[in-house]
Amino acid sequence: MLSVGLNVVPFVWAASPAAAELETIVVDWMGKLIGLPHLLLFSGGGGGVLQGSTCEAVVCTLAAARDRALAKLGHENIMKLVVYASDQTHVTFQKGARLVGIPPSNFRVIQTSASSGYGLTADAIRAAVDREVANGLVPLYLCATVGTTGLGAVDPVRGLGEEAQRHGMWLHVDAAYAGSAAICPEFEGYLDGAELADSVSMNPHKWFLTNMDCCCLWVASPATFTAALSTDPEYLKNVGTNGTGKPAAIDYKDWQISLTRRFRAIKLWVVLRRYGAIGLRGYIRRHVAAAKRFERMVAEDERFEVVVPRKFLLVCFRLRELLAAVNSSGRAFITHFVVDGKFVIRLAVAGAMTEMQHVMDVWALLQGKAEEVLRRHQLSRALIVQLRGTARLHVHADIILFIILVLGINSTFVPV
Ligand SMILES: *Cc1c(COP(=O)(O)O)cnc(C)c1O
Repeated sequence: MLSVGLNVVPFVWAASPAAAELETIVVDWMGKLIGLPHLLLFSGGGGGVLQGSTCEAVVCTLAAARDRALAKLGHENIMKLVVYASDQTHVTFQKGARLVGIPPSNFRVIQTSASSGYGLTADAIRAAVDREVANGLVPLYLCATVGTTGLGAVDPVRGLGEEAQRHGMWLHVDAAYAGSAAICPEFEGYLDGAELADSVSMNPHKWFLTNMDCCCLWVASPATFTAALSTDPEYLKNVGTNGTGKPAAIDYKDWQISLTRRFRAIKLWVVLRRYGAIGLRGYIRRHVAAAKRFERMVAEDERFEVVVPRKFLLVCFRLRELLAAVNSSGRAFITHFVVDGKFVIRLAVAGAMTEMQHVMDVWALLQGKAEEVLRRHQLSRALIVQLRGTARLHVHADIILFIILVLGINSTFVPV
């Protein structure tokens, strides 16, 4: 009975009015919590939906952007549409563009660099867009990421939004993990300019204590969005509000790819009610404080180098061969990224039950392994010098590691 009671399927409003209404309420709460402009909330003329993942949300926004553009240009001009992202943008935008019929050759990956903290600058976009327009192409869609996957970099939303507006491009803000931090006033600034966005997404299933799957997607124009996704088959006319002629209620089937759907709002509602804004801010700040302390310890240890300044919970640092040594210990699992040709280590403090002590333990493990690695290198260095002369040293010293460590009690990663 309990499972039947929980098996709510709010695809049309009439199938579960309570679930559909709760979803509109929690996405508005969530939007307010992260400081989104009013115009992206239901209360301000926009609105939101809970989808399964950012990947799905991206496909839906790309489809809406495409249809909005082609309604003016004519469908035969789809080959002219261009999508812009940076080399740090999540790869799902490339896949999404392909799925909605944008020619792969019209997907532009703009290079970022250390000088902008690996953020996509408005100048770079302007130069690229001006070139395309001169060649008769049509700028369609631009992604601004707040907290990139690899490095936690932030694109300037306002600057990119102004460029997007100049050309009628759809601006999507992907704040998949770092959006959670925006519930704290000290991080709200990263979403400054979101009023210029056509859509914004963030994943409560990442850093917001909500189990898989739950992605919030807000759009400024629900009418434009649902025009690309709505269906109105005969067999639903008698159950949906569409059939009653009263469009006031929301049919979430028109806000996503699939027809039937899950009752995700209950999960987010429980998290919001259980922890409250103050509890959630404390949770985020605890992780950020631990990541900050870790970054300081790494920076103060001359054997390590912090490669990109930390903004949220992700610390990117390097020391050769450390990744394999730590992972083979079985006590922590760390992963890597590559930036400017450097192999880098990443530490993200994001587990629901992660405490400062876990970070201290990991740091002790890293230091111990670092000592082992360096000792081994000193020995092999002496040997190489003895045997082959100094030329060989270079090759050895250039094996640089870049590692990610996720302290993931509630994730698929190995807990520390
Ligand atoms: C994780 C992540 C995604 C993908 O999220 P899914 O919900 O797994 O699709 C997209 N963008 C960024 C910035 C991410 O960190």
